[in-house]
Amino acid sequence: MHTSSVPLYWRLQKSKYGLFGTKCLSCNTHFYPPKPLCSECRRKGRVVEHQFSGKGKILTFTIIRTAPEGFEKQAPYAIGIIELDEGAKIAGQIVGPFERLATGKRVRPVFRKIYEDSDDGIIHYGMKFVIDGKS
Ligand SMILES: [Zn+2]
Repeated sequence: MHTSSVPLYWRLQKSKYGLFGTKCLSCNTHFYPPKPLCSECRRKGRVVEHQFSGKGKILTFTIIRTAPEGFEKQAPYAIGIIELDEGAKIAGQIVGPFERLATGKRVRPVFRKIYEDSDDGIIHYGMKFVIDGKS
């Protein structure tokens, strides 16, 4: 089988500890999740790895009151679409008092517990966003 141009270890490991995507050096478009090819430049683009700061602003958000299985303890919680400073968009959970939630608010990333597997006790960590104190 032909291997993907985004190595598997990269997707499995690096993405846990940072926000890794790609960017096209030709047109400076950023991609998250990482794309091996620039959708603008196609084969003319030169795509390299890019680590996002994770800082951005809230584009849209919604408060989840009825959580799916495994997330019940966390409900209600907010999820949203974050526009990263580089321009890429990412969906994620937004931590913080709901009354501070608003579109356009600045957020920064934190690594937090995402969910706890009740059967095997495994705690899964991942990235969430917190509303920046100053905004
Ligand atoms: Zn490009």
